[in-house]
Amino acid sequence: MTMPEGVRRKFVKRPVRWYEEGVYTAGEKKMGEFEKSTFNILVVDDDENVLQLVKIILADRKYHLVTARDGKEALDKLGTFRPDIIICDILMPNLDGYQFRDAIRDRDEYYLTSFIFMSAKTTTEDRVRGIEHGVDAYITKPFDVVEFRAIVNSMIKKRLQLERLVNHDALTHVYNKRKIIGELERELQRVKRYSNSLSIIIVDIDHFKQVNDTHGHPEGDTVLETIAETARNSLRAIDMIGRIGGEEFLIILPETDLNGALIYADRLRMMVAALVIGPNDIKVTISGGIATAPAHAVDREPLIRKADEALYEAKRAGRDRIACAR
Ligand code: GH3
Ligand code: MG
Ligand code: MG
Repeated sequence: MTMPEGVRRKFVKRPVRWYEEGVYTAGEKKMGEFEKSTFNILVVDDDENVLQLVKIILADRKYHLVTARDGKEALDKLGTFRPDIIICDILMPNLDGYQFRDAIRDRDEYYLTSFIFMSAKTTTEDRVRGIEHGVDAYITKPFDVVEFRAIVNSMIKKRLQLERLVNHDALTHVYNKRKIIGELERELQRVKRYSNSLSIIIVDIDHFKQVNDTHGHPEGDTVLETIAETARNSLRAIDMIGRIGGEEFLIILPETDLNGALIYADRLRMMVAALVIGPNDIKVTISGGIATAPAHAVDREPLIRKADEALYEAKRAGRDRIACAR
């Protein structure tokens, strides 16, 4: 089920967004095949020839390379660049590979970043030392081009799997609470910086406890999955959805005012009401509360509170409806 063109066109179009993490495609929201089209790679080596060679080997639109000449410069670059993969030499002036590795090893923002040592130091002792520093792979210089690409690609694959596990809800495949709240925080920074508007919708399934009581928990799960999928398929590529409670979802609509959000939310409400789910032909409705930044609030917690209050209004007014914050 998709939204009619007329409704889609009401939303402001904006190019694919460019975050520190790289470019995300619409495929991300379809999940299942979580896809990121660009990977940020930091290459650290004091040998200019090696940097040039790596640039040639990884000359592909899907790689975005940034280089540094030693660990110190690499640390500086991390201030503005968020790599998915770090490929690092060991013997370098100022701050060597081990020291650089240690400097970032325990930092939360790098827990998903693959770290690869690239070195001519190839004794067993060297490799063991690399492993002890928690590196994910070891490329020996002079390197084999095919092997080099294979290692980078396998790191990317692993990274995507990890990201998916860490950021998504296992049942519904939409973002989990931590991820969607983080995304909201980030979008609100944009609102503050560029003074555009953003709307959020908190969606809650009506009388869901009754669905479980009547049809059983597994059927309830199917309802959750189906509603999440319906919502996901109805969103634009820049919109996001996450599960923030048992039967509660948060939808972020960047660059959408209250009116646009209301049109979308009511459309979703009608789509859900029209669903007939599973072998028991379950029918459910949803209620939603909308709040818009900066009109209602610009900070995350008050904005969510506003949307929550609106949701409560919708419930009190009889459910199967959308209410806007005041
Ligand atoms: P309201 O219309 O006021 O929202 O009523 P409700 O019954 O939907 O709300 P309530 O908060 O009383 O119940 C939510 C139910 O959601 C209770 C819980 O068993 C169910 N639930 C929460 N997580 C899951 C889940 O992962 N799977 C299933 N099947 N049920 C879940
Ligand atoms: Mg409910
Ligand atoms: Mg609830």
